[in-house]
Amino acid sequence: MQWPTGVLDILSRLEGAGFEAWAVGGCVRDTLMGRIPSDWDVCTRALPAEMKAALQGLRIIETGLPHGTLTVLSPQPVEVTTYRVDGDYSDHRRPDNVRFVPDLVEDLSRRDFTMNAMAMHPERPLCDPFGGRADIEAKLVRCVGAPEHRFREDALRMLRCLRFAAQLDFAVEEGTARALEKAWPTLFHVSRERIGAEYLKLIVGPGAGRVIKQFHTQVDAISPIREDMEPHILDALPREPGVRMGYLLKNADCLPGLRLPNRLIRRVRTLLDLRSRPLPDSPYALKRLLSQVGEEAVRDLCALPEGQALMPMLEDLLSAGACFSLRDLALRGSDLDALGLQGPAVGKTLRALLDEVMAGRLPNQREALLEAALSLRSGPDSQG
Ligand code: ATP
Ligand code: MG
Repeated sequence: MQWPTGVLDILSRLEGAGFEAWAVGGCVRDTLMGRIPSDWDVCTRALPAEMKAALQGLRIIETGLPHGTLTVLSPQPVEVTTYRVDGDYSDHRRPDNVRFVPDLVEDLSRRDFTMNAMAMHPERPLCDPFGGRADIEAKLVRCVGAPEHRFREDALRMLRCLRFAAQLDFAVEEGTARALEKAWPTLFHVSRERIGAEYLKLIVGPGAGRVIKQFHTQVDAISPIREDMEPHILDALPREPGVRMGYLLKNADCLPGLRLPNRLIRRVRTLLDLRSRPLPDSPYALKRLLSQVGEEAVRDLCALPEGQALMPMLEDLLSAGACFSLRDLALRGSDLDALGLQGPAVGKTLRALLDEVMAGRLPNQREALLEAALSLRSGPDSQG
């Protein structure tokens, strides 16, 4: 197995200073699953000040030192955290305080799922007090401890549970699933950002269709799902949140409730709108659509069942190098300035020329377009 040298260095510095330290959490899970961890976390018995002293000389960001967390840039960021347990949760979201503890297993017991509550070390056997390895083998997401209690502490764990089930293609252990169904309404105490971020990971996961089918009521409460949703259709879509939401959602009403990136919201809105309209029925109509909404949106539409029939025509147009945007037009605004056109008349003329080219009435050639621009200028609506 591959330990990043930065992580080995952090472990040996901490242990050289007399403090036990382990790699922990998602990187252990991913390693056992034969996946490459996206990031590495270290936990240690060292208290925050001791941790900082032992790692002196490395590039450190004090990301949350009072809570026992700092980040080492090694150069990939590695989070190093003092063993701790969480204090009381009064709002289903965040612990009111944290308490540092001397024992690794206590730290592991505050973690959400058994597969995330293991620690590993290059010279010691795996520390797996809650049966995480067995649950990984059985492909199960299971809470550490009593699920009702763990979901009451932090409601986001319920959505993380579905996210991991979809992402890793695991089932949700029965007790965990029952507790989740009961406690689901408390999820909405959690911030929209955090719900949105986990939701996006859920819907692009390889097991998304199955998880959303099983937990339809719960996912529907986040974002109303179209009535005719088919899990196998969802799973066959590109792993692109915009496309998947454009298929999955009943309408755009839930979008403000998720606080997603604006670009993504625009992409989804466009797609929901396109999928409810009749498809363009001629190359000209398709070019007009391309010029209005852009190539990405039309490709998104073609990925959905509603737009599939459009794909051959789109591919024909694109492979023929069809012109459908002002950027592709063989004439620039500056060419029209030279003809004495100014201000809004420039854009208006360019758009009129583009429409002629899309309709096949003009070739996309500079000379022909210039000539047409001249006749438009002297035409009847040149004053208006
Ligand atoms: P990913 O690969 O998506 O980053 P991850 O398991 O590393 O997955 P993180 O959100 O980075 O997930 O969290 C790191 C670790 O912190 C988790 O593995 C888990 O042990 C713990 N953890 C994170 N969020 C919670 C939570 N809400 N409640 C309890 N433990 C949590
Ligand atoms: Mg992580």
